[in-house]
Amino acid sequence: MNKSNGFTTQRVHADRQLNTPVHGAVHEPISTSVLFEYAKAQNLVDVFQGHKAGHVYSRSSSGSVNALQNIINDLEGGVGAVCFSTGMAAISSTILSLFAAGDHLIVSQYLFGNTRSFFATLAGLGVQISYVDTTCAEDVAAAMQQNTCGVYCETIANPVTQVSDISGISALCEQHNLLFMVDSTMTPPPLFDAKSQGVALIFSSLTKYIGGHGNALGGAVIDTGIFDWTRFSRIAPMYRGAEPAQWGLTQIRKRGLRDLGATLSPESANSLAIGIETLGLRLDKACNNALKLAIFLEQHPAVAKVFYPGLKSHPQNNRCSQLFKYFGAILSFELQPNSDPLAFLDSLNLILCSTHLGDNRTLALPVAQTIFYENTAEQRMEMGISDNLIRMSVGIEEHEDLLTDLAQGLDLLG
Ligand SMILES: *Cc1c(COP(=O)(O)O)cnc(C)c1O
Repeated sequence: MNKSNGFTTQRVHADRQLNTPVHGAVHEPISTSVLFEYAKAQNLVDVFQGHKAGHVYSRSSSGSVNALQNIINDLEGGVGAVCFSTGMAAISSTILSLFAAGDHLIVSQYLFGNTRSFFATLAGLGVQISYVDTTCAEDVAAAMQQNTCGVYCETIANPVTQVSDISGISALCEQHNLLFMVDSTMTPPPLFDAKSQGVALIFSSLTKYIGGHGNALGGAVIDTGIFDWTRFSRIAPMYRGAEPAQWGLTQIRKRGLRDLGATLSPESANSLAIGIETLGLRLDKACNNALKLAIFLEQHPAVAKVFYPGLKSHPQNNRCSQLFKYFGAILSFELQPNSDPLAFLDSLNLILCSTHLGDNRTLALPVAQTIFYENTAEQRMEMGISDNLIRMSVGIEEHEDLLTDLAQGLDLLG
């Protein structure tokens, strides 16, 4: 496909050009067949043995999911992508398929809560985990051990918006041959070009900005082609058949997708592929809105503190300008002490009180009482989460409407 196309041009023409819809259709159709027929038995044998491309059973591959994988891979400029039923499935299935007891991983201490919980499960299986402050590459270097195999972090963490030192960590990973894995859910293209920053495996919850409409779950892992799999001892001999660039994805497809079985449905694949067409337009609007809201909130007397990478007061404001096209569309803010965050949320007329993020609609929720309620008060304090912290996922509404709603709610707090 023509790489000189603009971002949105590429997105709206990708399905038709990367895939092979019939009858002149512009979308790959939803293909629901679980099984696939082979008129010649030898052809089925060849597909099973990897000598020929084809589908054998839709848990492992199907037309609709392959079409989405092509589109996602094109979006990130990788050597291939594997899609899963959810973002958590992409993360857990990939990591379970690549690491084993005795390996050591360096993991960000600022993680999406469910991912953090998954790493606790992984530790129970014998993989050693060190949690470090990934906003500082020196801290990552200091945590390295003889058996360290990889580093895992997020681009912009949720809810307090810490920004990892992506370029510092990628240099370290290159030097020491570590697999650099980044959850880029908060910063899909065109916000962030993970490949150009040395990320080896990109994780994305397609449920969020990529889909964008809150109507389909999905996840993906994309191999950027940066990592040399011939130097990764955990690839089983049977998955070293193809060119080395595909070794990692081959093992992820077999041991992750096929064996663990968290397959994306063809209906969801189709919804997500359509969502991607407007990704650039939606992010542009949502990120611009978020900056306007953050500036407004920072000046409001009912607000004690605002966390948003686009503000000069944010500790990684400079790094963010270098890494990202915009500052993202997630922001958090603390109400003044003794304000009731639940009463504030109840007073909003337009903004939805809801979990989830990356939606077209602006959403808000009380953080300590919901997504971090499983953590102790002490753990929350370490993560910078106070009891009156509100997280907002800013949508694509006209910003004037959002400001009006926030202003009336904050004024009620008096
Ligand atoms: C939502 C989210 C996930 C999990 O994705 P699901 O599709 O909900 O399973 C992982 N990482 C981050 C940063 C997320 O925001």
